[in-house]
Amino acid sequence: MPELPEVETVCRTLNELIAGKEIDRVSVKLPRIIQRPADPDLFEVQLAGRTFRSVERRGKFLRLLLDGLVLVSHLRMEGRYGLYKQEEPLEPHTHVIFHFTDGTELRYKDVRQFGTMHLFRAGDELASAPLNKLGIEPLDEAFTLEAFKRALGKRSTKIKPLLLNQEVIVGLGNIYVDEALHEAGVHPETEANLLKPAELERLHAAIVRTLSAAVEAGGSSIKSYVNGQGEMGMFQHRLRAYGRTGEPCDQCGSLIEKSVVGGRGTHVCPTCQKLRGKSSTGNKSSDASGTNAVKRRLDGKTGKR
Ligand SMILES: [Zn+2]
Repeated sequence: MPELPEVETVCRTLNELIAGKEIDRVSVKLPRIIQRPADPDLFEVQLAGRTFRSVERRGKFLRLLLDGLVLVSHLRMEGRYGLYKQEEPLEPHTHVIFHFTDGTELRYKDVRQFGTMHLFRAGDELASAPLNKLGIEPLDEAFTLEAFKRALGKRSTKIKPLLLNQEVIVGLGNIYVDEALHEAGVHPETEANLLKPAELERLHAAIVRTLSAAVEAGGSSIKSYVNGQGEMGMFQHRLRAYGRTGEPCDQCGSLIEKSVVGGRGTHVCPTCQKLRGKSSTGNKSSDASGTNAVKRRLDGKTGKR
């Protein structure tokens, strides 16, 4: 499952690939991907003749802006976009194709078929599902320490599931929550309303730093991608806690432990992240991982007509 940094990188790459391209027609091969309008034929009709202006991100959703319309796209587990020449053979699991007037095609591939697309009149998308209930953007200037505290409220929920709740803060998934909690020295099962001011401050800073660093890493991986190295997946930058079960903590040398918190595999340093007052349990569960990518297939000859 892509998290904010991966979606941000897909967003930037996609913007580079399709901004300015005019849609000749659209082919929907798997109607269930299209959640709105209810009739996928209408989806095809409404998009014909429109031009992609830019691609933006809201939480883990892509917002593809066209003249007068906005396409809201979520990649879920394995959705990916790629730009192809129209004569290139269609790969399996290609479900939606945007045929451009310049002879290229944006193809949406999704092996698991969990991805979604919603089409709105521009401006309507923010007041309707799926974007209307999303919480604060952690990389916006508006994400101040005060805004973070307000978003958490006085809830007695454990901090990890609260940070994963997209209605509170958007974009954080299992990997970056574990990373931020480790950096802040906060145990994932700490009740949110019991966090001390210093812990809230460290956690706020850790969320911003962790996500920013990952976006940077993604930015640098775009270059190798454009050079034809193939698909990009989750970033290979160094992780502090996530996926490092049994390895020594960088800060104290204790071995990273894995448990389950709120149904999610969770990586904790038992020394740096003490749970006050309680002892935590240690269940095993499998790692989650995801590979979602924008694929560049045109060897640099993309874009401008
Ligand atoms: Zn440690």
